[in-house]
Amino acid sequence: MIAPKPHVAALAAYPLADLSLAPGVKPVMLAQNESAYPPSPKALAAAEAALADAMLYPDSGWTALRAAIAESYGIPARDVLCSNGSMELIVALIGAYAGPGDEVLSTQYGYALFRTATMMAGASYVAAPEPEMRVSVADVLAHVTARTRVVCIANPGNPTGSRIPRADLLTLREGLPADVLLLIDEAYGEFADGLDPPMFDLVARGDTVVSRTLSKAYGLAGMRIGWGLFPPEIGVEVRKLLIPGSVSGVAQAMGAAAVSDRAYMADVVRKTAEVRDGFAAKLAGAGFDARGSMTNFVLVRFADSEAAARAEVFLRAEGILVRAMGAYRLPECLRVSIGLAEDMARVAKLFASWKAGEGGG
Ligand SMILES: *Cc1c(COP(=O)(O)O)cnc(C)c1O
Repeated sequence: MIAPKPHVAALAAYPLADLSLAPGVKPVMLAQNESAYPPSPKALAAAEAALADAMLYPDSGWTALRAAIAESYGIPARDVLCSNGSMELIVALIGAYAGPGDEVLSTQYGYALFRTATMMAGASYVAAPEPEMRVSVADVLAHVTARTRVVCIANPGNPTGSRIPRADLLTLREGLPADVLLLIDEAYGEFADGLDPPMFDLVARGDTVVSRTLSKAYGLAGMRIGWGLFPPEIGVEVRKLLIPGSVSGVAQAMGAAAVSDRAYMADVVRKTAEVRDGFAAKLAGAGFDARGSMTNFVLVRFADSEAAARAEVFLRAEGILVRAMGAYRLPECLRVSIGLAEDMARVAKLFASWKAGEGGG
């Protein structure tokens, strides 16, 4: 009998969205927080030019991409690492700093990959409570033990959509022991940068990493481009666990062009936020508990998990794919990514007619 390692055998597969549909139904994809808008035209042109170099391995040092990121975000290029989506970066970071006997700490409604990456590393996952679906710094600090090696916080959070103010993150870092690594995952950072500056300055302390992605605000989820700002001693270790060439040449070219076109990204963020707030207001007007969000999605809470499941099936029959939240221990919720204005107007009407069909007002 060929046996896997026990921690792999015990690992549940990463929870993916159910994208199945009846034949012939045209899907509206609102289950994976993808952008409703195509990438910048400059990124599309860069991809076309890069295709001719497909016989070459990609630049394993991401020279042009990290230079463009550094320029666009005002950070030093040498401290930027790029990866095949920020998922690769998170798995490598946790794998480099936690293993059997160690604890990785996040929060009750933390991003699902934090748990999966912890299990992949053979470490133990600990979740601090999130009262009111908001990260509580006091609760996180209360769950630090002598075994805690890494603390992972997504800000804004997925699936809650809520945001932790910068001052709270500073308090968190101050309260953590100096030998505990803090990962601040800013996958939705571009949607919140107007409210608080990014946390890049914390990286200079030497104990904090900030990650971002081009999957959300830049509309490049399919190209798999993540990046992070690292203290040099930590970046050196994490880089050993990244697969050389994991970011394709086409992806690097598109990414560099996309982050250099800040005006296009800012326009996408503005349009998305406008549609999001209008959609959330319509749902609230129809009697739904739709939470305010600082991201490109809205979390909707139903009376119970059965009601959420019925609404999910009702929407799926109409081709509207939203995300069931059982894997996030929020089975009474559905997460709805923000699509195009016309699609979201239809989705809001469908929510209202579902409620009417349930006999709710
Ligand atoms: C979408 C998301 C990611 C990014 O995933 P990629 O691998 O970069 O596509 C990271 N963290 C959170 C919280 C996310 O929602």
